Amino acid sequence: MAKVKVIIAGPRGRMGKEAVNLVTTTENYELAAVLDYKHGGKQLSDIEGFTGISVPVYEDIESCLTDVQANVLIDLTTPEVGMHHTRTALQHGVRPVVGTTGFTKEDLQELETICQEKQIGCIIAPNFAVGAVLMMKFSQMAAKYFGDVEILELHHDQKLDAPSGTAVKTAEMIAEVREKKQQGHPNEKETISGARGANMEGMHIHSVRLPGLIAHQQVMFGSEGQALTIRHDSYNRASFMSGVKLSVDTVMKIDTFVYGLENILE
Ligand code: NAP
Repeated sequence: MAKVKVIIAGPRGRMGKEAVNLVTTTENYELAAVLDYKHGGKQLSDIEGFTGISVPVYEDIESCLTDVQANVLIDLTTPEVGMHHTRTALQHGVRPVVGTTGFTKEDLQELETICQEKQIGCIIAPNFAVGAVLMMKFSQMAAKYFGDVEILELHHDQKLDAPSGTAVKTAEMIAEVREKKQQGHPNEKETISGARGANMEGMHIHSVRLPGLIAHQQVMFGSEGQALTIRHDSYNRASFMSGVKLSVDTVMKIDTFVYGLENILE
């Protein structure tokens, strides 16, 4: 069977390093190139921490995709760059697996349209941890019975986007089943702006950023005399890699746009 040729964008990042390890240690995958805006023209093995991995490093996705034959692009960068990479990969017939978070609804819509036009697979997963996907699914189940919910997401302090993609996705999944309502007292007033967090369809989302954290989320439901808390913790970035592998394997078989790992878990 031919190997799946993979390009990784953001290889020096915390997620990118794990992805390089996944791709270079998986038998039927081949790392074809990496995208790193600081090391264009080098070999990956020239960069600290990647001894022995001799693949070309490109600064720019256009030249990378012109020079390198690849099947899949794994993007683990920043929202703006990730959007550019994903759009360009699709235009070149390369299937994106995107872990980068912070894409807007308009971004997702645009990418879905390109996938439909090109009839090519693309998977965007704000959270590759299987436990986090179950947390979202269990929260959606609970929201049928508990209409009052607050989402507390906690991440390391280098995270660029807030609220997290997972929190937004959780709120979207809850909104599909939850009876619409504005939570809290109708006359509640913030004496310090932002005290009640972000408001999404009447639910509140709170973002905590602290060094030492990785990725954690607590979905808290309350009703008369009872509370239910559903919590997931990722203690390291290796926790995301089984989801990345599942996404790479799946994206090779589909010709549609998928947003969320829950849509490919059996
Ligand atoms: P990180 O450690 O900051 O890594 C981001 C990497 O992207 C860095 O190496 C950065 O390089 C690089 N980068 C920035 N601009 C670039 C460009 N123009 N071209 C190529 N590379 C570029 O962040 P991380 O924790 O690995 O997270 C990466 C992304 O994945 C974030 O969006 C994060 O929210 C998301 N994430 C997703 C999941 C999931 O399960 N889906 C889990 C964790 C994180 P410099 O540092 O040199 O600027």
